[in-house]
Amino acid sequence: MNPGYAKAVVLIGVILLIAIPAAIHHRDGKAGVDKSRRGSLELVVLAIAWLGFLPSIAWLATPLLGFADYPPHMVPFLAGIACLAAGLWLLYRSHADLGESWSITLELHADHRLVTRGVYRSVRHPMYLALLLYAMGQALVLPNWVAGPAYLVAMAILFALRVGPEERMMLESFGKDYEAYVARTSRLVPGVW
Ligand code: SAH
Repeated sequence: MNPGYAKAVVLIGVILLIAIPAAIHHRDGKAGVDKSRRGSLELVVLAIAWLGFLPSIAWLATPLLGFADYPPHMVPFLAGIACLAAGLWLLYRSHADLGESWSITLELHADHRLVTRGVYRSVRHPMYLALLLYAMGQALVLPNWVAGPAYLVAMAILFALRVGPEERMMLESFGKDYEAYVARTSRLVPGVW
């Protein structure tokens, strides 16, 4: 298989990963922050997320990671495209449903709304599921032992470190409403966990 196909798919994926949130949130107002959990753990989480993204950009734009390239294969490539497409669709849906309640870091706005509809109806973290699916897709599509899995490792760490503090923050702020929401939803995979 021509490695150029992998490059094209990774490039389109990276562009959409950045463009989808930007397109949805460019009109968001500047609501004040009511509660911020931007402690040192959160800074580590954000740094890991960005660091995990850099190898794919380095692979696309420079020959630095060439030593870890391997020949691409059609079956993982096609499975990877399916994961990327599913991840990007879910990323779009979760950003659209969360609307102005979205933030890149752990915080609540002054007029924060608890969202329980759309893709938030059955899972509490569809955006993290979307990022994990996207990262799995990139691991399958990108034929390089470093750049391929880097974002998946970063997203797994982000999920593991963030989901507990995030749910505690939501519970503190929305009390019984969030408790009821937790009782009727799954964390990540509908009906499974
Ligand atoms: N964990 C969610 C959202 C990620 S964005 C997901 O994976 O889809 C992170 C911010 O979203 C948090 O700072 C919190 O303020 C907000 N948030 C998380 N769940 C929410 C919900 N159900 N309703 C409103 N805001 C939510």
